[in-house]
Amino acid sequence: QLVLVTGASGFIASHIIKQLQTSGYRVRGTVRSLENEAKIKPLKELCPDAEHQLELVEADLLKPETWESAVKDCNYVIHTASPFPNQVVKDPETELIQPAVEGTTNVLKAIQAGKTVKRVVITSSIATVIGGETGVDTTKTYTEEDWANVDKLDGYSKSKTLAEKAAWDFLKELPEEERFEIATIQPGYVLGPIIHGSMCTSMEVPKKLLERAMPGLPKLNFNIVDVRDVAEAHIKAMTAPEAAGKRHIAVTHNMWIRDIASVIAEEYRPQGYNVPTWQLPNFAVWVGGMFDKTVKLTVPQLGKQYKLESTKLKEVLGIEPKDSKETILDMCSTMIEGGWVK
Ligand code: NDP
Repeated sequence: QLVLVTGASGFIASHIIKQLQTSGYRVRGTVRSLENEAKIKPLKELCPDAEHQLELVEADLLKPETWESAVKDCNYVIHTASPFPNQVVKDPETELIQPAVEGTTNVLKAIQAGKTVKRVVITSSIATVIGGETGVDTTKTYTEEDWANVDKLDGYSKSKTLAEKAAWDFLKELPEEERFEIATIQPGYVLGPIIHGSMCTSMEVPKKLLERAMPGLPKLNFNIVDVRDVAEAHIKAMTAPEAAGKRHIAVTHNMWIRDIASVIAEEYRPQGYNVPTWQLPNFAVWVGGMFDKTVKLTVPQLGKQYKLESTKLKEVLGIEPKDSKETILDMCSTMIEGGWVK
């Protein structure tokens, strides 16, 4: 069985590829450039004992002509590629929304033309459920039934929401005889070991904590999940009969930044990393450090804890969540080993 993984060079995709190869699947991955040795080399080394070597091809979300050959002969597609920058971009429309939405549609059109793909698993986000909105109800528990209000979203959340909606709409419009299946995964804040070759947005918080980029911690809350659990969820959603046509929220632990910092401090302070654990008052945010570029997004989130139901992750996909301490510390150790921490 041949699986296409789009955006192979990414944090989440690298774990998906490793697990697929370990399970004996043939895997083809798309990258924007085969020339980028720093990104390609770690991919080739993900699973040295794999029965089938990883095949890499070039494809770009905004180049529709690149996708037909990429999906050729595939049985499944796992679509992770989407812009996920670690700062607010100048023009969200062209830098985020267009590539996410048109890219998803380009991949789906190629699948429709190729006729071999049975199911597509799309990496969506909890941003499509609660978004980066202000005024999100902290008393409510959000479920897969909920959709963020696109009129109130930041560029990234909007790109993810419109891309996922475009996928479900695309499927609805397909003639019966050309139908394939779609399942989507909505991860929260993904943490865990780094096995790919580039800086990614998920690394921001642990990196800033290890580097003591701020003396005090803003009161920010995250619904976190281990990257290995997210990867497994994608692979289970590819074949589990009951996953077809469904969204799956993937969050497993709710933590304030201070909780994350405490886990890191306990392990790494003795090793000389001066990890901050002092909680700033609720109204304050350390503008000069961590969230300088995203302060507009961050301030409305201060002190707020959002509740999300994630029962399908366990009940439909059978994921046994990793311990949050293991997730956080594995991320830190691989970031330090990989030279990602100053
Ligand atoms: P990465 O930035 O590591 O991965 C993003 C991938 O998308 C990269 O491989 C990147 O390729 C690719 N990509 C971006 N733009 C294009 C384009 N125009 N054409 C082709 N490929 C492109 O981030 P993650 O692994 O964290 O994210 C993967 C997916 O998971 C994204 O869809 C993201 O929205 C989603 N997600 C992530 C969460 C997290 O906490 N990490 C939480 C919820 C959802 P290149 O290497 O060439 O830049």
